[in-house]
Amino acid sequence: MSGVMQVQNLGGETVRERLHAARAAFAAWSSLKPAERASHLAALRRVVLRRTDEIVDVVCRETGKVPTEALLGEIYPTLELMRYYEKHAAKILAKRAVPTSPLAYPFSYAYVEQRPLGVVAVISPWNFPFQLSLIPAVTALLAGNTVCLKPSELCGAVGELIEDLLRDAECFHGALQVLPGDGQTGRQLIEAGPDLIFFTGSVVTGRTIMELAARNVTPSILELGGKDPMIVFDDAPWERTVRAAVYGAFANSGQMCVSVERAYVQRGIYRQFVKAVIAQAGELRVGLASDNDYGAITSPRQIAVIEDHYRDAVARGAKASGPLHREGSLIHPVVLWDVDHSMKLMREETFGPLLPVMPFDNEDEAVCLANDSEFGLNGSVWTTDLEKGRRVAARLRAGGCAVNDVIKNVGHPGLPFGGVKQSGFGRYHGPEGLLSFTQPVSILVNSGRMTLEPNWFPYSERRYRDLRGFMDFVFGEGSLLSRFRRNWDALKSFREYFTFNLRQKLKKLD
Ligand code: NAD
Repeated sequence: MSGVMQVQNLGGETVRERLHAARAAFAAWSSLKPAERASHLAALRRVVLRRTDEIVDVVCRETGKVPTEALLGEIYPTLELMRYYEKHAAKILAKRAVPTSPLAYPFSYAYVEQRPLGVVAVISPWNFPFQLSLIPAVTALLAGNTVCLKPSELCGAVGELIEDLLRDAECFHGALQVLPGDGQTGRQLIEAGPDLIFFTGSVVTGRTIMELAARNVTPSILELGGKDPMIVFDDAPWERTVRAAVYGAFANSGQMCVSVERAYVQRGIYRQFVKAVIAQAGELRVGLASDNDYGAITSPRQIAVIEDHYRDAVARGAKASGPLHREGSLIHPVVLWDVDHSMKLMREETFGPLLPVMPFDNEDEAVCLANDSEFGLNGSVWTTDLEKGRRVAARLRAGGCAVNDVIKNVGHPGLPFGGVKQSGFGRYHGPEGLLSFTQPVSILVNSGRMTLEPNWFPYSERRYRDLRGFMDFVFGEGSLLSRFRRNWDALKSFREYFTFNLRQKLKKLD
């Protein structure tokens, strides 16, 4: 489907030049206050909103998405996240005072600063080429970093469009460099030595990225694949759950890292559920027009994976709602049942419009099946018993979970997003996600009034005994009075501390 625009690799020299340009922009950009950086973001947000239809057109042309999918999956979460950070970034990034014991650190106070790391390499995939490029890039920028963005080679026009939006908004001024190219350009970007890598893509490439990153000990955040479970209890809100399963499995042709890739349904409603999702899936309109529900498979490589998973499942005994009906890069929805965990369909990421459904008998079994996966990105639990919903959500080994909702939780701008196990590590979105693009730097300030600290030289047997006594006074068992009494000899030698404390106490009483 894709490949509308052939992307040329930049070449190693140019990649290094772009990284140097981003590094050169760092001093000026990072010295801006968060509120000033947020004003650039606001300018970009306004341009994105104004040029929404054009962005939707470009994304649809490159990926084969339908327009409503592009609007909801690409533009809406981007605007939402930008506005969230515009409002909250200054507070999230603010210096944090840390309580400091006047006994151990007299005349001192401490705080933590969140500092940017430098140049962040953002490497993004093709399935949501706009938001998965722009959201991490602007988050990194807002934290004070500069950015080299390498979009997917399947979506070169989206990369060009992002550059154009920045020009239009007159924002970020050289702090964001776009590097078109394929995996070779991505590799050269990492080899050029960024200060942080933010990668979204497959597990296979994620492993290579880690190996490359290890050479320069470059910190990395990896947002990788998923095999998200949907757990449906027999008390689930019926109509909502059936619709959610069909939406969750087939939206964007199933090409979402958080698509429903496995449905587990309590045995009492299993057959009825399979029938209902088959009926609803049969009503989906597949095609590229604005009144279609979902569009094309973007990457030809993915078509082969989907066909392989379908064939493997059927060969191992799965029943399917129909043959894999493909018209070019369009694949019609298929529901499969009588599936088990020996099938690729239940173990590997399919990233296509197949919905396997498997029964379970009780809560423990459902949790066990859901967790029996190398992946752990997101999941959902369906029940009218919200306590049970929360209990099961707490037992899922995944970076996130929704109760009685699907996919939408990952678009919540205040919730950190990311995976566990082979779905990767590190988070973006929310306060934690902004802090991921910073490093905490700890500062301790002493007024300099004391000429000697008790931990400084000279050491002696006496000093050892005194310090030992001080530790027993601070950490030992018994009442304050008894600790004071038994360590009196040692404490006498720390008169300076006690005089200080007394003064502090008197000040408070004033
Ligand atoms: P991919 O791994 O093939 O490519 C992702 C990016 O990495 C592309 O820009 C590509 O050019 C680049 N790349 C490839 N080889 C590289 C190398 N050696 N060094 C540096 N960069 C390299 O992934 P894809 O097929 O574009 O995307 C689909 C995958 O992304 C799916 O597995 C999906 O689950 C995952 N994904 C994850 C999330 C998430 O947030 N967890 C979101 C969307 C997609």
